[in-house]
Amino acid sequence: MSREPVLIIRGRRVATPDGLRAAAIHIAGGQIASVRAFDDVAPGAELVEAGDALVFPGLVDTHVHVNEPGRTDWEGFATATRAAAAGGVTTLLDMPLNSIPPTTSVAALETKRAAALGRCAVDTGFLGGLVPGNGAELAPLHSAGVFGFKCFLCPSGVDEFPPMSPGGLREAAPALAALDALLMVHAEWPAALEHAAGSSGDRRSYATWLAGRPVTAETEAVRFLIGLARESGLRVHVVHVSAPETLELVGAARAEGIRMTAETCPHYLGFAAEEIPDGATEYKCAPPIREARRREGLWEALASDRLDAVVSDHSPSPPAMKLREEGDFLRAWGGIASLQLRLPAIWTGARARGYPPERLAAWLCAGPARLAGLTGRKGAIAAGHDADLVLWHPEKEFVVSETVLRHRHAITPWLGRTLAGVVEATYLRGEPVYARGAADQPPRGRLLTRLAS
Ligand SMILES: [Zn+2]
Repeated sequence: MSREPVLIIRGRRVATPDGLRAAAIHIAGGQIASVRAFDDVAPGAELVEAGDALVFPGLVDTHVHVNEPGRTDWEGFATATRAAAAGGVTTLLDMPLNSIPPTTSVAALETKRAAALGRCAVDTGFLGGLVPGNGAELAPLHSAGVFGFKCFLCPSGVDEFPPMSPGGLREAAPALAALDALLMVHAEWPAALEHAAGSSGDRRSYATWLAGRPVTAETEAVRFLIGLARESGLRVHVVHVSAPETLELVGAARAEGIRMTAETCPHYLGFAAEEIPDGATEYKCAPPIREARRREGLWEALASDRLDAVVSDHSPSPPAMKLREEGDFLRAWGGIASLQLRLPAIWTGARARGYPPERLAAWLCAGPARLAGLTGRKGAIAAGHDADLVLWHPEKEFVVSETVLRHRHAITPWLGRTLAGVVEATYLRGEPVYARGAADQPPRGRLLTRLAS
């Protein structure tokens, strides 16, 4: 490309695929034209000095429930993507459920795209849903550019997105495998849940919720999924892994050559069951946040590359649905809002365990980009990628307050916590989409498809 760069962003700590180094990022036409030596700055170009801030690829979040249309009072494209930009996230994938309609047909995908158009502060793509009876919609949804499919093995929490039976999943798998589509699965085995749900303990006690969703529910589901992937050749991704035992199974399957991937989320890495107060339903999610020793097991898995990504599973609801006053863990909505907080939440935990900040680029940027099939476009600071960048200060801390949060609702277990990692500015294709202390930028996000932007 002979076009002159119009923008150069340079810093002393740029997270390149080869590690942290001083570099000048030359940007033209919204893409990274080249990554050069710090002093290699063309005269006349607009220059942004990152100074001591870390310069990271824009974060990619492949697990976000935006809930629009249909449950826009829970969240929405404008509020979710505004929060994403403030958190350094430049690409997100919207989950097919909790919106009405759920994204289980091409017509529903078009409805969702119409709702999102012109409202997104960051790039937004869509996942399709696999539910009983929509087999004929899978190939059309795939052709329409969804980034993969999501299904449940247990009830999802909303009636319009029912779970797949094991038999139904076996029937659907060959068609999805033929498309080479990615299937993301909520892996909790319903029989193990039903067995444990008999507990009639104190509904305000976190232990009651935890006992009803045992680790064996996750491992039993993953054993089934390994068999499914082995038989069909389907690419299976296990969402929100809550226990290291699950990753042992996934690791063994991978060693066998089975194509499986796995993610975890900030709440499984940041909290521990022992510390959750009675009635604190803002911590409710499924599978549940587990014991401190399992949290540490997840950190070890992350550090040894046995997890492919850390994504938010941002799943908000109106505060009333969290039933905070009753504190009833069995009836409250299960889902944790953290779209804006993934970077500081993970950095705070990583720093406490002695991991350097550059490791987060794999966990939060390159890993999820690979999962989404966006490698080469997103998730790395390298020539040819979109110039999606986040400038952040790992040494600075802040308190998570209602005024900081840009989600539609401020309810989250992270509220009141002091976190390290302050996002200074976020760029999408070379354009600023967030600057700390500045007014909101107009929405510049595009609607992405798997095939092209
Ligand atoms: Zn989810």
